[in-house]
Amino acid sequence: GVKVVIVGGVAGGMSAATRLRRLDEQAQIVVLEKGPYVSFANCGLPYYISGEIGNRDDLIVESPAELQARFNLDVRPEHTVTKIDPVTQTVSGTTSGGRSFTESYDKLILAPGAKPLVPDIHGLADAANAFVLRSIPDLDRIMLTLHQVQPKQALIIGAGFIGLEVAENLRRRGLAVTIVEQTPHVLPPLDEEMAAFVQQELQAHNVRVITGQSVTTLQDDGHTAQLSDGTTLSTDLTILSVGVRPNTDVAGAAGIKLGLRGGIVVDDHYQTSQPNIYAVGDAIVVTQQITGQPALIPLASPANRQGRQVADVIAGLPQRNRGSIGTAIVRVFDLAAASTGLSERAARQAGLDVAVIHVLGKNHAAYYPEATPINLKLIFNPHTGEIYGAQGVGVDGVDKRIDVLATAIKGHLTVADLPELELTYAPPFGSAKDPVNMLGYAALNITEGLSTHIQWYQLPDALKNGAILLDVRDPDEIAEGHFPHSVNIPLNDLRDRLNELDPKQTYIVSCRSGQRAYIAERILRQHGFQVKNLDGAYQLYQAVR
Ligand code: FAD
Repeated sequence: GVKVVIVGGVAGGMSAATRLRRLDEQAQIVVLEKGPYVSFANCGLPYYISGEIGNRDDLIVESPAELQARFNLDVRPEHTVTKIDPVTQTVSGTTSGGRSFTESYDKLILAPGAKPLVPDIHGLADAANAFVLRSIPDLDRIMLTLHQVQPKQALIIGAGFIGLEVAENLRRRGLAVTIVEQTPHVLPPLDEEMAAFVQQELQAHNVRVITGQSVTTLQDDGHTAQLSDGTTLSTDLTILSVGVRPNTDVAGAAGIKLGLRGGIVVDDHYQTSQPNIYAVGDAIVVTQQITGQPALIPLASPANRQGRQVADVIAGLPQRNRGSIGTAIVRVFDLAAASTGLSERAARQAGLDVAVIHVLGKNHAAYYPEATPINLKLIFNPHTGEIYGAQGVGVDGVDKRIDVLATAIKGHLTVADLPELELTYAPPFGSAKDPVNMLGYAALNITEGLSTHIQWYQLPDALKNGAILLDVRDPDEIAEGHFPHSVNIPLNDLRDRLNELDPKQTYIVSCRSGQRAYIAERILRQHGFQVKNLDGAYQLYQAVR
């Protein structure tokens, strides 16, 4: 049979190996993995820090012996590939024990993943208490420090998905946690106003959040961190989580073409620039399906899919990489924050024609006990209705809404299709008008010209240009918190008090969540007023200001 060598034995590599075996009993399949474990749960690592995942063995999904028994795979951990020779069709390297090895291949699949970016911090090399988290050995090092040093305070550098997961799990262990994030807000893949809810949640759990700053220096053997504004922090344990880059030095040295930020360039059959060499997972450049542009999308779902698909290609099945959209979720204490597709920022940067709406919904029927809010955001084209992306933050049911929207994007549905989705509903589960349907209704109000929105970040300029903010909440709500400059007419009084408004002015209507403001907008418009709707209303404004 054909001899297939796979470099990297986790998500992409092991998916390829097992699928290939199911397709071809005759193939000789060798998996070379640098680390001591294959098929481990990278995504589960943060939850072991707090003990939420209590058993270390649960993180190791399959052993080489199990993989041999079930799939007849020749799995070799502790084998680091250091050289690929496309001419002789061999890979070579060294084992952890220092032994050299060379292995020939008919087909080579590269699934070396990504490696953590190491920020340029003065003194980092001397900081024995600073770690990255990518593998089980990384986790073991962190756990050893937690047990031996009993650190009291931790510093997390980088507030992406992994940084926030580690922050939560260290906090659950009782450490005082500070997060420093260089960009203006936590969770950079989300937009600022959606990330604001996450930041509030972190602070509510006594995580100190410092944004717009970077760590420039680590002193005192890593125990003192200095920030770009000169602030100093003390830390017993520092986690570096500033992102990843494709782990492609060996591939690049073999003359395999690299592209965006060093990612391996593959065609839509996962073939690299070299014959008989394929690549999948975090290491490759994919096509962002929404923009058609090259992208790096280092997530587990695409890596697993690509591993399976490359096995199909090698086994001669018709299979093609159709690209990725990027769907992700993170739990931050009692909240979940999720996104799919492009953020508003990314969509605007890509030069797309962008409209945005925010809807505040509930996880299930509002009248059924323990309903909790979900903030949803939809990013779409106001002319074609194409859905560019969605984001959600809430206690419960965020995964379901973002998954439906991710499916809608993959299925090329438009905003006009969202009201048509017939989703599960009984009071404990959803609503007859699910928040996803509501996003569709609200988006259609924009595309049909029934409603004109302004976004929270446009409000200051609009007011400067003379628009008047009309808050239609009830006086008791206003008393609890309000815009600095606004006129208040409760929605139920509006029809009777239209004479208090000046037809020559432009009004911006707001309420708590946007629902009443939309009704007010429709009343005012039909009476000839110029009116815009503050998308997301006071609730969103208050979170992000
Ligand atoms: P990996 O799974 O990283 O596997 C690559 C393997 O190749 C590694 O084991 C590496 O040791 C090995 N290797 C590299 N170079 C060589 C070499 N020269 N020789 C031999 N072996 C080599 N994604 C999500 O979608 N959701 C999550 O919740 C999530 N959480 C995560 C949490 C953490 C802490 C981490 C680190 C990642 C998380 N991810 C998550 C990302 C997800 O794990 C990756 O997208 C996925 O594992 C990528 O699969 P891959 O096969 O490309 O690379």
